[in-house]
Amino acid sequence: MKFASYWHDTAPVFDKGAGGPVDGHYDVAVIGGGFTGLSAARQLARAGARVVVLEAERVGWGASGRNGGHLNNGLAHSYPDAKAKLGKERAIALYKAFDDSIDTIASIIDDEGIDCDFRRAGKLKLASKPQHVAGLAKNFEAIHAEVDPDTACCRRRLKAEIGAPFYGAMLFRKSAVMHMGRYVTGLAQAVVRHAGTIFENAPVTDTVRTGNRHVLTTPRGQVTADTVLVATGAYTTPNFGFFRKRIIVVGSFIIATRPLNAAEIAAAMPGNRTCVTSMHVGNYFRLSPDNRLIFGGRARFSATSDHTSDARSGKILRAQMASIFPALADVEIDYCWGGLLDMTQDRLPRAGYQDGVWYAMGFSGHGAQLSTQLGVVMADNILGREDRNPMKGVAWNAIPGHFGKPWFLPMVGLYYKMLDRIR
Ligand SMILES: Cc1cc2nc3c(=O)[nH]c(=O)nc-3n(C[C@H](O)[C@H](O)[C@H](O)COP(=O)(O)OP(=O)(O)OC[C@H]3O[C@@H](n4cnc5c(N)ncnc54)[C@H](O)[C@@H]3O)c2cc1C
Repeated sequence: MKFASYWHDTAPVFDKGAGGPVDGHYDVAVIGGGFTGLSAARQLARAGARVVVLEAERVGWGASGRNGGHLNNGLAHSYPDAKAKLGKERAIALYKAFDDSIDTIASIIDDEGIDCDFRRAGKLKLASKPQHVAGLAKNFEAIHAEVDPDTACCRRRLKAEIGAPFYGAMLFRKSAVMHMGRYVTGLAQAVVRHAGTIFENAPVTDTVRTGNRHVLTTPRGQVTADTVLVATGAYTTPNFGFFRKRIIVVGSFIIATRPLNAAEIAAAMPGNRTCVTSMHVGNYFRLSPDNRLIFGGRARFSATSDHTSDARSGKILRAQMASIFPALADVEIDYCWGGLLDMTQDRLPRAGYQDGVWYAMGFSGHGAQLSTQLGVVMADNILGREDRNPMKGVAWNAIPGHFGKPWFLPMVGLYYKMLDRIR
């Protein structure tokens, strides 16, 4: 078994990063080379802006190269919850932004010729307990009537979709899948093709604003820029204190089996969609382009993803996979990895302008699609184009007592596990 992301391991390596010292003056400096930063950089470079991406490690090294590979539309919240939190108009705008995300990704893939197995697979939200069916049905009715008629409730047809004991499901037809590693490399290559510059191994350790100019320091040198976009997600370094006080870092973990054969797929995943269970500490799974079951979940409420943490979580995930698909209990696991999620207190993303810099983050485990979209939307804001930011003006308060390390995570984990036992 490899302790590595399947996406990292099976994608071409980006090899167009700029060498030599980090220097120069740019119209826009983007900090972070994940989907958010790269999609923004591409949009800016295409419009003729001089743009530089500064990435602490390698492009796609963060959540963008480690996720479950679900490009799901629909919200992380139930739609009625989102309406209660945001009001109807904004909840609809956010829902539509998720829809737009998938269209935006499809058109970038098309325009740039990125070979990444994009497919409109559809997503199933699966009821893990009989008592979850009513909530799912209520969510479906509201979504179907008000915002997304391209949804369905499936109960009788469920066996044709999935060979596991679920009690009902909601289908979101617009959801998609792709190879996340090939997409992120393709996006980075597109930035360079459009005359953008990408420096890898260039963590921004200091940002100073003098007049209208930002000076960004890395161990490899400094750049200056008129405008800065912070796209650092869960991996935001401590020098970005404003964001660290608002982002709660939580690990999420994944295992990938060996490629399944046709009989195993027909028994376990005949519908070949993305699947998400209805538990608070739930699971998400899909098939890879080469037919591995990619099976993920929060597993242990840890804020660390390293070899030890990933291995411990991998064991838990294997047991969870076996309880859903007993026939796969002994199947070989070829990959085990983890990554960090940038949760906000209300699990809603944030994007905007603060203290002289633009930002988009807080995707709360639901950003493989929205990160590309908000990157483009923030770039359009910087370019002075129409503002399509669904989260414009939504307050983002610091979490009391939180300065970057989520000391309260074990308590939160216990709370959600208790909810799963009693509900
Ligand atoms: C295990 C896991 C499973 C997931 N599954 C799904 C899923 O199936 N569907 C879904 O919708 N979402 C999923 N997500 C979430 C999704 O992957 C993220 O929301 C999305 O990739 C965020 O992209 P990003 O560009 O904002 O952040 P990232 O991809 O994390 O990029 C941020 C980058 O910033 C860099 N950085 C940080 N600080 C600095 C600095 N000071 N200087 C320079 N660079 C810096 C980091 O090195 C990193 O590469 C998952 C996440 C994880 C971890």
